[in-house]
Amino acid sequence: MLRNDIGIFTEKGGTIAYLLSKKGIVVVDAEFPEQSKHLIDELKKQSSKSFDLLINTHHHGDHTAGNISFKGIVQDVAAHTNSLVNQKNVAVNQKSEDKQLYPNITYNDSWSYKIGEEHIQTYYFGPAHTNGDSIIHFQHGNIAHMGDLVFNRRWAFIDRSAGASVKNWITVLDKTISTFDNETIFVFGHAFDPEKITGNKDDLKAMRDYLSNMLTFVEKQIKSGKSKDEILKEKSIPGVTEWQGDGIERGLQASFEELSNTIV
Ligand SMILES: [Zn+2]
Ligand SMILES: [Zn+2]
Repeated sequence: MLRNDIGIFTEKGGTIAYLLSKKGIVVVDAEFPEQSKHLIDELKKQSSKSFDLLINTHHHGDHTAGNISFKGIVQDVAAHTNSLVNQKNVAVNQKSEDKQLYPNITYNDSWSYKIGEEHIQTYYFGPAHTNGDSIIHFQHGNIAHMGDLVFNRRWAFIDRSAGASVKNWITVLDKTISTFDNETIFVFGHAFDPEKITGNKDDLKAMRDYLSNMLTFVEKQIKSGKSKDEILKEKSIPGVTEWQGDGIERGLQASFEELSNTIV
């Protein structure tokens, strides 16, 4: 548990947050089918209340593939409008529509939901990791699930095929920093170090600075005449010292394509 009756669950995929209130259970994100089954079994041991709501921070399979385990169990599934569109597009392409549980509630800029003494508020600040990332804030517990808007100290995946924008991602993080206070506990979709799956505003600032340094670096490289292949071979980004793991090239490629307006 993180604070009050709100906890997190991690096994494989994007971090799950849950609320075990006296009125019912709310879950944010669902990892994969096997993992969400484990979570449901565990929560059933801890509470006899019903599963009232599942919210997806965005459509990626490591956050929504587990929705299917909630079929017939959860009352409502909610997500940003673009998250549903993206989830459907991917499922149609991969012929996996029968393995999906789609949101029956969609929202745009914001949406709120009250359960017991907890008030859940969603925020959407435009394209970033995809074009459908929302922040889910438990106001009473003051815990905000960032989905994949933060890859904490780990090279980020940036999904241009789903409308991502590095430039606006920086703006999204600035807006997030000014929206929440210093007591807010943030939950991150992914982190290099499992202990860094939650954090504070300093982690949001560090994520913003990584994206900003990367964009500036790639822009300089393009202006100095470097080719895409040369840029993708870079093993470090000036000013970014804490980010690690595999996949530095994913961000470099996304930045290059965004800056040169290449169609993927
Ligand atoms: Zn993820
Ligand atoms: Zn994602």
